Amino acid sequence: MADDRTIVAQKIASQDEEHAPYGGVVPEIAARAHAERLSPMIAAVLAEADVGLEELDAIAATAGPGLIGGVMVGLVSAKALAMASDVPLYAVNHLEGHALSPRLADPSLEFPYALLLVSGGHCQIIRVEGVGRYRRLATTIDDALGEAFDKTAKILGLGFPGGPAVERLAREGDATAVPLPRPLAGSSEPHFSFAGLKSAVLRAHESGRFEAADIAASFQQAAIDCVVDRLRRALDAMEPVETLVVAGGVAANASVRTALEALADDWGLRFSAPPPSLCTDNAAMIAWAGQERLHAGLAADPLDFAARPRWPLDPAAEAVRGAGV
Ligand code: ATP
Ligand code: FE
Repeated sequence: MADDRTIVAQKIASQDEEHAPYGGVVPEIAARAHAERLSPMIAAVLAEADVGLEELDAIAATAGPGLIGGVMVGLVSAKALAMASDVPLYAVNHLEGHALSPRLADPSLEFPYALLLVSGGHCQIIRVEGVGRYRRLATTIDDALGEAFDKTAKILGLGFPGGPAVERLAREGDATAVPLPRPLAGSSEPHFSFAGLKSAVLRAHESGRFEAADIAASFQQAAIDCVVDRLRRALDAMEPVETLVVAGGVAANASVRTALEALADDWGLRFSAPPPSLCTDNAAMIAWAGQERLHAGLAADPLDFAARPRWPLDPAAEAVRGAGV
């Protein structure tokens, strides 16, 4: 990542094929795949960028949260490179990568902004106030939104990862064909819940009364309705912002983006979303988060920084899982 936001070189080694037979990510396979692929990838990316390690201002690597095996492989490799080349290390929170990715794509996006972070493991509404300053207003009390897409795909036999497959099939279906619930819609706290929606999808499928495309379209619409309802609640409670932003893997979904754009319009807000390639996991957003920290004058991290399986962006936010909100 260059100073002018150019992605000089980037590679993504997808492990989807290795996990697909199991219908989800298998931790042991993930850790091994990281260990096997990372070194050759780093060499290839440096060669493609045509830069030496000593030319770098900093090295950024994900330090959590997530499956710890893969995170450790990446962090340890970054530490070794930082030590060998005497370059500062930034240990980046993966969620901070998602949260700041819209600013990589949209240089005019200023703090503060309202962020809907929707990914495979998270569903949160955050007021992003600056680099390293995140105020979480809502989270999910059970499943993440991406998880709900993945489970729906599994129920419908669409394979893994499920989000893009559900989106494709939904285009051929009728979003009003299957009656599905909108969990927590209208509730006073802006939190999310998707477990009941997934169970309703399973029941609809097992009833044999509905086409898969209609289930996919109805599920997607129900999920979008929930998100819009919860965001309205959060925006109501939030100190004013000028921009509504969406990030994370589910932000790649065109129907989700369209619905959020309409919501922003309705609230007189600007709307910003990174291109789909920067929504799903990628290295550029982590490099960018490192660069944001560097440019904001935040201190680099020590070489004994430990990988973190759990790492909330807003440590002050209350835990709500199962709290009956
Ligand atoms: P987290 O960021 O919470 O740790 P993660 O890194 O596994 O989780 P991401 O890579 O950010 O998640 O996003 C992947 C998720 O996004 C998956 O659940 C996937 O199904 C979902 N997703 C990707 N593309 C789409 C799409 N077009 N429509 C809906 N969901 C999608
Ligand atoms: Fe992610």
